[in-house]
Amino acid sequence: MHVSGMLRAVSFTAVLSALIAALALAGAGGAQEAGSGGRAQNVIIFIGDGMGTSQRDLIRYATVGSEGQLAMDAMPYAGRSQTSPLDPEYFVTDSAAGGTAIASGVKTFNGAVGIDAEKNPVPTVLERAESAGKSTGLVTNSQVTDATPASFGAHVENRDLQSKIALQYLEESRPEVILGGGEDYWYPEGDPGAHPDEPEEDPEEKSAGTEGNLVRRAEDLGYEYATDAAELRAASGNKLLGLFANEEMFQQNPEGEGAVYDPQVDLSEMTQKAIDALSEDPEGFLLMVEEEGIDEMAHQSNAELVIEAGRQLDAAVEVGKSYAEGDPETLVIVAADHETGSLAIEDTNELQSDPDYPNESGEGRTSEDGPFDVANSDKRFVVDWTTANHTAEDVPVTAMGPGGENLVGVYENTHIHDAMLEALFGSSPPSASATASATASATASATASASAGAQQVPDTGGPSVAAWIVALAAALGGMGLLVSRRVLRGDG
Ligand SMILES: [Zn+2]
Repeated sequence: MHVSGMLRAVSFTAVLSALIAALALAGAGGAQEAGSGGRAQNVIIFIGDGMGTSQRDLIRYATVGSEGQLAMDAMPYAGRSQTSPLDPEYFVTDSAAGGTAIASGVKTFNGAVGIDAEKNPVPTVLERAESAGKSTGLVTNSQVTDATPASFGAHVENRDLQSKIALQYLEESRPEVILGGGEDYWYPEGDPGAHPDEPEEDPEEKSAGTEGNLVRRAEDLGYEYATDAAELRAASGNKLLGLFANEEMFQQNPEGEGAVYDPQVDLSEMTQKAIDALSEDPEGFLLMVEEEGIDEMAHQSNAELVIEAGRQLDAAVEVGKSYAEGDPETLVIVAADHETGSLAIEDTNELQSDPDYPNESGEGRTSEDGPFDVANSDKRFVVDWTTANHTAEDVPVTAMGPGGENLVGVYENTHIHDAMLEALFGSSPPSASATASATASATASATASASAGAQQVPDTGGPSVAAWIVALAAALGGMGLLVSRRVLRGDG
Protein backbone atom coordinates (compact mmCIF):
# COMPACT_ATOMS: atom_id res chain seq x y z
CA MET A 1 0.00 0.00 0.00
CA HIS A 2 1.20 3.47 -0.52
CA VAL A 3 2.09 5.42 2.55
CA SER A 4 -0.43 8.24 2.42
CA GLY A 5 -3.35 5.83 2.12
CA MET A 6 -2.09 3.87 5.05
CA LEU A 7 -1.59 6.96 7.16
CA ARG A 8 -5.07 8.18 6.34
CA ALA A 9 -6.60 4.87 7.33
CA VAL A 10 -4.56 4.61 10.48
CA SER A 11 -5.22 8.12 11.70
CA PHE A 12 -8.94 7.90 10.85
CA THR A 13 -9.42 4.69 12.80
CA ALA A 14 -7.17 5.92 15.61
CA VAL A 15 -9.24 9.07 15.99
CA LEU A 16 -12.46 7.05 15.91
CA SER A 17 -11.35 4.53 18.46
CA ALA A 18 -10.13 7.32 20.72
CA LEU A 19 -13.51 9.04 20.32
CA ILE A 20 -15.40 5.86 21.13
CA ALA A 21 -13.17 5.13 24.10
CA ALA A 22 -13.61 8.68 25.34
CA LEU A 23 -17.37 8.50 24.98
CA ALA A 24 -17.46 5.17 26.78
CA LEU A 25 -15.48 6.70 29.60
CA ALA A 26 -17.77 9.71 29.76
CA GLY A 27 -20.84 7.48 29.62
CA ALA A 28 -19.55 5.37 32.49
CA GLY A 29 -19.16 8.45 34.62
CA GLY A 30 -15.48 8.60 33.80
CA ALA A 31 -12.40 8.68 35.95
CA GLN A 32 -12.10 12.43 35.64
CA GLU A 33 -11.31 14.70 38.53
CA ALA A 34 -14.47 16.14 40.02
CA GLY A 35 -15.20 19.61 38.74
CA SER A 36 -12.23 19.89 36.43
CA GLY A 37 -13.60 17.95 33.47
CA GLY A 38 -10.13 16.50 32.99
CA ARG A 39 -8.78 19.97 32.22
CA ALA A 40 -5.44 21.13 33.61
CA GLN A 41 -4.09 24.64 34.00
CA ASN A 42 -0.52 23.39 34.40
CA VAL A 43 1.50 20.42 33.19
CA ILE A 44 4.73 19.20 34.76
CA ILE A 45 6.26 16.38 32.75
CA PHE A 46 9.27 14.50 34.12
CA ILE A 47 11.32 12.46 31.68
CA GLY A 48 13.73 9.90 33.05
CA ASP A 49 16.01 9.50 30.05
CA GLY A 50 16.59 5.79 29.50
CA MET A 51 14.25 4.82 32.37
CA GLY A 52 12.54 1.52 31.68
CA THR A 53 10.63 -0.64 34.15
CA SER A 54 13.82 -2.32 35.36
CA GLN A 55 15.49 1.02 36.08
CA ARG A 56 12.47 2.09 38.12
CA ASP A 57 12.63 -1.19 40.03
CA LEU A 58 16.38 -0.92 40.53
CA ILE A 59 15.95 2.55 42.03
CA ARG A 60 13.05 1.32 44.16
CA TYR A 61 14.77 -1.78 45.61
CA ALA A 62 17.92 0.17 46.43
CA THR A 63 16.10 3.17 47.90
CA VAL A 64 12.89 2.04 49.61
CA GLY A 65 13.08 -1.77 49.39
CA SER A 66 10.62 -4.41 48.22
CA GLU A 67 7.71 -3.02 50.16
CA GLY A 68 8.33 0.69 49.67
CA GLN A 69 7.10 2.95 46.92
CA LEU A 70 8.90 5.72 45.07
CA ALA A 71 7.21 9.10 44.61
CA MET A 72 7.15 8.46 40.87
CA ASP A 73 5.30 5.16 41.38
CA ALA A 74 2.85 6.41 44.01
CA MET A 75 0.55 8.00 41.44
CA PRO A 76 -3.03 7.02 40.54
CA TYR A 77 -2.61 6.47 36.79
CA ALA A 78 -0.15 4.16 35.05
CA GLY A 79 0.40 3.15 31.46
CA ARG A 80 3.02 1.97 29.03
CA SER A 81 4.54 3.84 26.13
CA GLN A 82 5.82 2.25 22.93
CA THR A 83 8.92 3.93 21.61
CA SER A 84 9.84 2.97 18.03
CA PRO A 85 10.97 5.81 15.77
CA LEU A 86 9.90 6.43 12.16
CA ASP A 87 13.37 5.89 10.80
CA PRO A 88 14.52 4.31 7.53
CA GLU A 89 17.40 2.50 9.23
CA TYR A 90 17.02 2.34 12.99
CA PHE A 91 14.58 0.09 14.80
CA VAL A 92 15.45 1.46 18.26
CA THR A 93 14.85 5.12 19.10
CA ASP A 94 17.23 7.79 20.30
CA SER A 95 16.29 10.64 22.62
CA ALA A 96 15.65 13.09 19.78
CA ALA A 97 13.00 11.01 18.00
CA GLY A 98 11.61 9.91 21.38
CA GLY A 99 11.48 13.49 22.66
CA THR A 100 9.87 14.76 19.47
CA ALA A 101 7.12 12.13 19.75
CA ILE A 102 6.37 13.22 23.32
CA ALA A 103 6.64 16.97 22.68
CA SER A 104 4.97 17.20 19.26
CA GLY A 105 2.98 14.00 18.77
CA VAL A 106 4.75 12.86 15.61
CA LYS A 107 7.05 9.97 14.91
CA THR A 108 10.32 10.95 13.29
CA PHE A 109 13.82 9.67 12.55
CA ASN A 110 16.67 9.38 15.04
CA GLY A 111 18.58 12.61 15.56
CA ALA A 112 15.63 14.77 14.45
CA VAL A 113 14.43 17.47 16.84
CA GLY A 114 10.97 19.02 16.48
CA ILE A 115 10.51 17.98 12.85
CA ASP A 116 8.50 15.18 11.29
CA ALA A 117 9.83 12.39 9.08
CA GLU A 118 9.50 14.69 6.01
CA LYS A 119 11.56 17.31 7.89
CA ASN A 120 8.68 19.74 8.36
CA PRO A 121 8.84 21.59 11.69
CA VAL A 122 6.01 20.50 13.97
CA PRO A 123 4.65 22.70 16.79
CA THR A 124 5.50 21.49 20.27
CA VAL A 125 3.25 21.44 23.31
CA LEU A 126 5.58 24.04 24.84
CA GLU A 127 5.06 26.38 21.88
CA ARG A 128 1.30 25.91 22.09
CA ALA A 129 1.38 26.67 25.80
CA GLU A 130 3.39 29.83 25.06
CA SER A 131 0.91 30.98 22.43
CA ALA A 132 -1.91 30.43 24.92
CA GLY A 133 -0.17 32.88 27.26
CA LYS A 134 1.21 30.31 29.67
CA SER A 135 4.76 30.36 31.00
CA THR A 136 7.06 27.46 30.16
CA GLY A 137 10.28 25.97 31.42
CA LEU A 138 12.98 23.44 30.55
CA VAL A 139 15.00 21.86 33.36
CA THR A 140 17.58 19.10 32.93
CA ASN A 141 20.88 17.95 34.33
CA SER A 142 22.07 17.30 30.79
CA GLN A 143 22.91 20.16 28.41
CA VAL A 144 19.84 22.42 28.26
CA THR A 145 20.17 22.03 24.49
CA ASP A 146 20.39 18.22 24.57
CA ALA A 147 17.88 16.18 22.57
CA THR A 148 15.10 15.86 25.15
CA PRO A 149 14.69 19.54 26.13
CA ALA A 150 15.45 20.56 22.53
CA SER A 151 12.47 18.54 21.33
CA PHE A 152 10.21 20.83 23.34
CA GLY A 153 11.67 24.13 22.18
CA ALA A 154 13.53 23.78 18.88
CA HIS A 155 13.36 22.45 15.32
CA VAL A 156 16.57 21.13 13.75
CA GLU A 157 17.45 18.17 11.57
CA ASN A 158 20.41 17.21 13.70
CA ARG A 159 20.44 17.14 17.50
CA ASP A 160 24.12 18.11 17.52
CA LEU A 161 23.31 21.69 16.44
CA GLN A 162 23.16 22.74 20.07
CA SER A 163 23.99 26.45 19.60
CA LYS A 164 21.23 26.73 17.00
CA ILE A 165 18.90 25.07 19.48
CA ALA A 166 19.88 27.61 22.15
CA LEU A 167 19.28 30.49 19.75
CA GLN A 168 15.85 29.12 18.86
CA TYR A 169 14.96 29.00 22.56
CA LEU A 170 15.86 32.68 22.90
CA GLU A 171 14.33 33.99 19.72
CA GLU A 172 11.51 31.62 18.82
CA SER A 173 10.09 29.26 21.45
CA ARG A 174 11.05 31.55 24.38
CA PRO A 175 10.68 29.39 27.50
CA GLU A 176 10.81 31.65 30.58
CA VAL A 177 12.99 29.23 32.56
CA ILE A 178 15.99 27.32 31.17
CA LEU A 179 18.12 25.47 33.76
CA GLY A 180 20.78 22.81 33.33
CA GLY A 181 24.21 22.19 31.82
CA GLY A 182 25.75 22.79 28.41
CA GLU A 183 27.37 26.21 28.79
CA ASP A 184 29.87 25.24 26.06
CA TYR A 185 27.25 25.89 23.36
CA TRP A 186 26.43 29.39 24.62
CA TYR A 187 29.94 30.84 24.18
CA PRO A 188 32.14 30.86 21.07
CA GLU A 189 35.45 29.02 21.02
CA GLY A 190 38.06 30.85 23.11
CA ASP A 191 35.52 32.41 25.49
CA PRO A 192 35.23 29.94 28.38
CA GLY A 193 32.34 31.65 30.17
CA ALA A 194 31.94 30.93 33.88
CA HIS A 195 32.96 27.27 33.66
CA PRO A 196 36.65 26.92 32.67
CA ASP A 197 37.61 25.26 29.40
CA GLU A 198 39.42 21.93 29.54
CA PRO A 199 38.79 21.20 33.23
CA GLU A 200 40.68 18.42 34.96
CA GLU A 201 37.64 16.14 35.24
CA ASP A 202 37.10 16.24 31.47
CA PRO A 203 39.83 17.96 29.36
CA GLU A 204 37.68 17.69 26.23
CA GLU A 205 35.13 20.20 27.49
CA LYS A 206 35.51 23.69 26.04
CA SER A 207 33.36 26.40 24.53
CA ALA A 208 32.23 25.45 21.02
CA GLY A 209 29.34 27.84 20.32
CA THR A 210 28.52 28.69 16.72
CA GLU A 211 26.10 31.59 17.31
CA GLY A 212 28.18 34.12 19.23
CA ASN A 213 27.79 34.97 22.89
CA LEU A 214 24.29 33.66 23.63
CA VAL A 215 24.47 34.37 27.35
CA ARG A 216 24.79 38.06 26.53
CA ARG A 217 21.95 37.69 24.01
CA ALA A 218 19.80 36.09 26.72
CA GLU A 219 20.56 38.89 29.17
CA ASP A 220 19.64 41.45 26.50
CA LEU A 221 16.32 39.64 26.17
CA GLY A 222 15.66 39.98 29.90
CA TYR A 223 16.89 36.67 31.29
CA GLU A 224 18.54 36.71 34.69
CA TYR A 225 21.64 34.50 34.44
CA ALA A 226 22.92 32.10 37.13
CA THR A 227 26.11 30.03 36.96
CA ASP A 228 25.99 28.23 40.32
CA ALA A 229 23.67 27.23 43.14
CA ALA A 230 24.16 30.48 45.08
CA GLU A 231 23.29 32.63 42.07
CA LEU A 232 20.28 30.47 41.33
CA ARG A 233 19.02 30.83 44.90
CA ALA A 234 19.49 34.60 44.71
CA ALA A 235 17.75 34.98 41.35
CA SER A 236 14.36 36.64 41.60
CA GLY A 237 13.29 37.31 38.02
CA ASN A 238 10.65 35.30 36.24
CA LYS A 239 12.91 34.87 33.17
CA LEU A 240 15.73 32.68 34.28
CA LEU A 241 18.71 31.10 32.51
CA GLY A 242 21.01 28.88 34.58
CA LEU A 243 23.97 27.01 33.10
CA PHE A 244 25.75 24.98 35.76
CA ALA A 245 28.29 22.92 33.80
CA ASN A 246 30.15 22.87 30.49
CA GLU A 247 28.32 19.75 29.37
CA GLU A 248 26.26 17.33 31.53
CA MET A 249 26.10 18.19 35.25
CA PHE A 250 27.93 14.91 36.01
CA GLN A 251 30.75 12.80 34.55
CA GLN A 252 29.63 9.62 32.84
CA ASN A 253 32.57 7.24 32.87
CA PRO A 254 32.86 3.54 33.55
CA GLU A 255 32.91 2.61 37.22
CA GLY A 256 36.25 3.36 38.84
CA GLU A 257 37.31 5.55 35.91
CA GLY A 258 36.23 8.97 37.11
CA ALA A 259 32.47 8.54 37.06
CA VAL A 260 30.89 11.22 39.24
CA TYR A 261 27.23 11.93 39.86
CA ASP A 262 27.15 14.94 42.14
CA PRO A 263 25.43 17.81 40.29
CA GLN A 264 26.25 21.19 41.82
CA VAL A 265 22.53 21.96 41.85
CA ASP A 266 20.19 19.06 42.54
CA LEU A 267 17.42 18.38 40.05
CA SER A 268 14.87 18.89 42.84
CA GLU A 269 16.22 22.37 43.59
CA MET A 270 16.11 23.39 39.92
CA THR A 271 12.57 21.98 39.72
CA GLN A 272 11.45 23.96 42.78
CA LYS A 273 13.00 27.17 41.45
CA ALA A 274 11.34 26.68 38.07
CA ILE A 275 7.94 26.04 39.65
CA ASP A 276 8.31 29.11 41.90
CA ALA A 277 8.98 31.32 38.87
CA LEU A 278 6.46 29.77 36.46
CA SER A 279 3.57 29.44 38.88
CA GLU A 280 3.33 33.22 39.19
CA ASP A 281 1.70 33.23 35.76
CA PRO A 282 -2.08 33.38 36.25
CA GLU A 283 -2.53 31.68 32.86
CA GLY A 284 -0.67 28.60 34.11
CA PHE A 285 2.50 26.88 32.98
CA LEU A 286 4.14 23.91 31.33
CA LEU A 287 7.39 22.56 32.74
CA MET A 288 9.56 19.74 31.36
CA VAL A 289 12.09 18.26 33.79
CA GLU A 290 14.60 15.70 32.52
CA GLU A 291 16.98 13.49 34.48
CA GLU A 292 19.76 12.45 32.10
CA GLY A 293 22.08 10.44 34.34
CA ILE A 294 19.88 7.33 34.25
CA ASP A 295 20.58 7.01 30.51
CA GLU A 296 24.21 8.09 30.58
CA MET A 297 25.18 5.85 33.49
CA ALA A 298 23.28 2.92 31.91
CA HIS A 299 25.36 3.47 28.75
CA GLN A 300 28.36 2.90 31.06
CA SER A 301 26.72 -0.12 32.75
CA ASN A 302 27.14 1.78 36.00
CA ALA A 303 24.22 0.64 38.16
CA GLU A 304 25.47 2.41 41.27
CA LEU A 305 25.14 5.80 39.61
CA VAL A 306 21.88 4.89 37.83
CA ILE A 307 20.55 4.50 41.37
CA GLU A 308 21.92 7.92 42.41
CA ALA A 309 20.45 9.54 39.30
CA GLY A 310 17.11 7.86 39.88
CA ARG A 311 17.01 9.13 43.45
CA GLN A 312 17.50 12.68 42.18
CA LEU A 313 14.67 12.23 39.72
CA ASP A 314 12.40 10.85 42.41
CA ALA A 315 13.17 13.80 44.70
CA ALA A 316 12.30 16.18 41.86
CA VAL A 317 9.04 14.29 41.25
CA GLU A 318 8.26 14.74 44.94
CA VAL A 319 8.64 18.51 44.46
CA GLY A 320 6.26 18.43 41.49
CA LYS A 321 3.73 16.34 43.39
CA SER A 322 3.79 18.67 46.41
CA TYR A 323 3.08 21.61 44.13
CA ALA A 324 0.21 19.71 42.49
CA GLU A 325 -1.29 18.86 45.87
CA GLY A 326 -1.61 22.60 46.54
CA ASP A 327 -2.75 23.40 42.99
CA PRO A 328 -4.91 20.49 41.85
CA GLU A 329 -5.33 21.93 38.35
CA THR A 330 -1.88 20.47 37.69
CA LEU A 331 -1.24 17.36 35.61
CA VAL A 332 2.00 15.63 36.67
CA ILE A 333 3.47 12.97 34.36
CA VAL A 334 6.55 10.77 34.82
CA ALA A 335 7.60 9.26 31.50
CA ALA A 336 10.67 8.10 29.61
CA ASP A 337 11.86 8.30 26.04
CA HIS A 338 13.31 4.77 25.89
CA GLU A 339 15.08 2.14 27.96
CA THR A 340 18.88 1.87 28.12
CA GLY A 341 20.92 -1.24 28.92
CA SER A 342 18.16 -3.85 29.27
CA LEU A 343 19.26 -4.54 32.79
CA ALA A 344 18.07 -7.52 34.81
CA ILE A 345 17.76 -7.57 38.59
CA GLU A 346 19.00 -10.94 39.85
CA ASP A 347 19.25 -12.74 43.14
CA THR A 348 22.78 -13.11 44.48
CA ASN A 349 21.95 -16.61 45.68
CA GLU A 350 20.93 -17.92 42.30
CA LEU A 351 24.28 -17.00 40.82
CA GLN A 352 26.15 -18.95 43.44
CA SER A 353 24.03 -21.97 44.03
CA ASP A 354 22.30 -23.42 40.98
CA PRO A 355 24.52 -24.60 38.12
CA ASP A 356 21.43 -25.83 36.24
CA TYR A 357 20.27 -22.24 35.76
CA PRO A 358 23.35 -20.29 34.76
CA ASN A 359 23.05 -16.61 33.97
CA GLU A 360 24.10 -15.28 30.60
CA SER A 361 26.31 -12.40 31.60
CA GLY A 362 29.64 -12.20 29.84
CA GLU A 363 32.82 -10.38 30.65
CA GLY A 364 33.66 -6.75 30.03
CA ARG A 365 31.60 -3.59 30.09
CA THR A 366 28.18 -5.19 30.35
CA SER A 367 28.82 -7.84 32.98
CA GLU A 368 27.19 -7.79 36.41
CA ASP A 369 27.10 -4.88 38.78
CA GLY A 370 26.74 -5.01 42.53
CA PRO A 371 25.80 -6.68 44.71
CA PHE A 372 23.57 -3.97 46.16
CA ASP A 373 21.54 -4.03 49.36
CA VAL A 374 17.78 -4.27 49.09
CA ALA A 375 16.84 -1.34 51.32
CA ASN A 376 15.26 -2.21 54.69
CA SER A 377 16.21 -5.88 54.46
CA ASP A 378 19.19 -8.20 54.74
CA LYS A 379 18.79 -9.29 51.09
CA ARG A 380 21.04 -8.38 48.21
CA PHE A 381 20.75 -8.32 44.43
CA VAL A 382 22.99 -7.93 41.39
CA VAL A 383 22.37 -6.01 38.18
CA ASP A 384 23.10 -7.82 34.94
CA TRP A 385 23.41 -5.72 31.79
CA THR A 386 22.54 -6.93 28.29
CA THR A 387 23.80 -4.01 26.22
CA ALA A 388 25.45 -0.61 26.58
CA ASN A 389 22.86 0.89 24.25
CA HIS A 390 19.17 1.74 24.01
CA THR A 391 16.56 -1.00 23.61
CA ALA A 392 13.09 -1.27 22.06
CA GLU A 393 11.33 -2.07 25.34
CA ASP A 394 8.18 -0.19 26.28
CA VAL A 395 8.64 2.28 29.10
CA PRO A 396 6.34 3.00 32.04
CA VAL A 397 4.32 6.20 32.39
CA THR A 398 2.68 7.33 35.65
CA ALA A 399 0.51 10.38 36.20
CA MET A 400 -1.65 12.30 38.64
CA GLY A 401 -4.08 15.18 38.26
CA PRO A 402 -6.64 16.21 35.65
CA GLY A 403 -6.11 14.43 32.32
CA GLY A 404 -3.94 11.75 33.93
CA GLU A 405 -6.71 9.21 33.27
CA ASN A 406 -5.90 9.49 29.54
CA LEU A 407 -2.48 7.99 30.20
CA VAL A 408 -3.87 4.65 31.39
CA GLY A 409 -3.27 1.83 28.92
CA VAL A 410 -0.72 0.90 26.29
CA TYR A 411 -0.06 3.45 23.57
CA GLU A 412 2.50 5.01 21.28
CA ASN A 413 4.75 7.71 22.77
CA THR A 414 2.96 10.29 20.60
CA HIS A 415 -0.10 9.79 22.79
CA ILE A 416 1.69 11.44 25.72
CA HIS A 417 1.71 14.65 23.64
CA ASP A 418 -1.96 14.21 22.77
CA ALA A 419 -2.86 13.71 26.43
CA MET A 420 -0.99 16.86 27.51
CA LEU A 421 -2.68 18.90 24.79
CA GLU A 422 -6.07 17.47 25.66
CA ALA A 423 -5.59 18.26 29.33
CA LEU A 424 -4.49 21.84 28.64
CA PHE A 425 -6.74 22.82 25.76
CA GLY A 426 -9.45 20.22 25.18
CA SER A 427 -10.41 19.92 21.53
CA SER A 428 -9.16 23.34 20.43
CA PRO A 429 -5.47 23.78 21.08
CA PRO A 430 -4.03 27.17 20.16
CA SER A 431 -2.12 27.13 16.92
CA ALA A 432 1.58 27.67 17.24
CA SER A 433 3.80 28.13 14.26
CA ALA A 434 6.92 26.05 14.41
CA THR A 435 9.35 28.43 12.81
CA ALA A 436 12.68 26.76 12.48
CA SER A 437 15.33 28.86 10.90
CA ALA A 438 17.36 25.77 10.10
CA THR A 439 14.67 23.87 8.23
CA ALA A 440 11.57 25.95 7.65
CA SER A 441 10.15 26.23 4.19
CA ALA A 442 7.45 28.75 3.37
CA THR A 443 4.61 26.30 3.89
CA ALA A 444 6.19 24.19 6.56
CA SER A 445 4.58 25.66 9.63
CA ALA A 446 1.11 25.62 8.11
CA THR A 447 1.57 21.98 7.19
CA ALA A 448 2.91 21.24 10.62
CA SER A 449 -0.02 22.89 12.37
CA ALA A 450 -2.46 21.01 10.19
CA SER A 451 -0.87 17.64 10.79
CA ALA A 452 -0.55 18.19 14.53
CA GLY A 453 -4.18 19.28 14.60
CA ALA A 454 -5.25 16.09 12.87
CA GLN A 455 -3.61 14.04 15.60
CA GLN A 456 -5.61 15.72 18.28
CA VAL A 457 -7.38 13.37 20.66
CA PRO A 458 -11.01 14.49 20.72
CA ASP A 459 -12.40 16.23 23.76
CA THR A 460 -13.33 13.71 26.40
CA GLY A 461 -16.58 15.61 26.64
CA GLY A 462 -17.18 15.41 30.38
CA PRO A 463 -20.06 13.59 31.96
CA SER A 464 -22.88 15.29 30.04
CA VAL A 465 -22.69 13.57 26.66
CA ALA A 466 -25.92 13.42 24.72
CA ALA A 467 -27.12 10.00 23.60
CA TRP A 468 -27.19 11.08 19.96
CA ILE A 469 -23.42 11.67 20.03
CA VAL A 470 -22.91 8.13 21.25
CA ALA A 471 -25.12 6.81 18.46
CA LEU A 472 -23.30 8.94 15.91
CA ALA A 473 -19.95 7.74 17.16
CA ALA A 474 -21.08 4.12 16.91
CA ALA A 475 -22.27 4.72 13.35
CA LEU A 476 -19.05 6.48 12.43
CA GLY A 477 -17.08 3.68 14.07
CA GLY A 478 -18.73 1.09 11.83
CA MET A 479 -18.17 3.30 8.81
CA GLY A 480 -14.55 3.90 9.79
CA LEU A 481 -13.84 0.20 10.00
CA LEU A 482 -15.41 -0.37 6.57
CA VAL A 483 -13.49 2.51 5.05
CA SER A 484 -10.21 1.48 6.57
CA ARG A 485 -10.64 -2.16 5.57
CA ARG A 486 -11.33 -1.04 2.04
CA VAL A 487 -8.26 1.19 2.01
CA LEU A 488 -6.08 -1.51 3.50
CA ARG A 489 -7.35 -4.19 1.11
CA GLY A 490 -7.43 -1.92 -1.91
CA ASP A 491 -3.86 -0.76 -1.53
CA GLY A 492 -2.51 -3.93 0.02
ZN1 LIG B 1 21.18 7.34 25.49
